[in-house]
Amino acid sequence: MKNSRVKNNGKSFLFPIIALFSLSICAVLALVLVGGEEVIYELQQLNFVPDEKTVCIDPGHGGSSSGATLGSRLEKDDTLRLSLLVRDILEERGYTVVMTRDNDSDVSLADRCKIANKARASLFVSIHRNSSTSPDATGMEMWVHSSNPTDDTLLAQNILDCLDTLDITNRGIHSGYRDGADMNYYINRHTKMPSVLAEIDFISNKTDNKNYDKNIEKYAKAIADGIELTLKEMHYS
Ligand SMILES: [Zn+2]
Repeated sequence: MKNSRVKNNGKSFLFPIIALFSLSICAVLALVLVGGEEVIYELQQLNFVPDEKTVCIDPGHGGSSSGATLGSRLEKDDTLRLSLLVRDILEERGYTVVMTRDNDSDVSLADRCKIANKARASLFVSIHRNSSTSPDATGMEMWVHSSNPTDDTLLAQNILDCLDTLDITNRGIHSGYRDGADMNYYINRHTKMPSVLAEIDFISNKTDNKNYDKNIEKYAKAIADGIELTLKEMHYS
């Protein structure tokens, strides 16, 4: 009799805990299902503690992925050249810069995000050049996650403002994905820190190419300035 009472008490004590635990799991699942991408995006940033002096620079494409092209000119080469210059400037200023690639190699989008997340980078900037069937299309645009996160948008705005002094047409900040407003670029979805996909200008525009080659060091300094300004405004440095 005594024993069975102890047993029952144990069960009745355990039941609410199991029920509560199951309810929490259901609530999280329901949130993910109803809230979709935005909830997943917010959940994955929980418990992420960035290293305040570490930044990740991601030169778009590489290896078998040339990106946009114009004749023999390949986006992957241009993004690497510019990214390495940004790295050098930030390193000179005392930051630790993690590159997703520093040579002409294939790196998957998943690995790019893993590199940044593992290094606990405080910001992630993916550098690209745009392309259009219209040879007159020109200028820079910044892409952030569709939920317009505050720090991501701040980073995008600061890079735009710094590049804006260099006579590049400003096409502004865009959120989501070029081919669908409810979608997102992979890197904006899977990095845990504020991120921006920066289309610096158009590889399909001859004047943009001329300016890119002539001003590449100024572009690099402007991007580094935008990153540093953002870190300061986020009270990181
Ligand atoms: Zn690209």
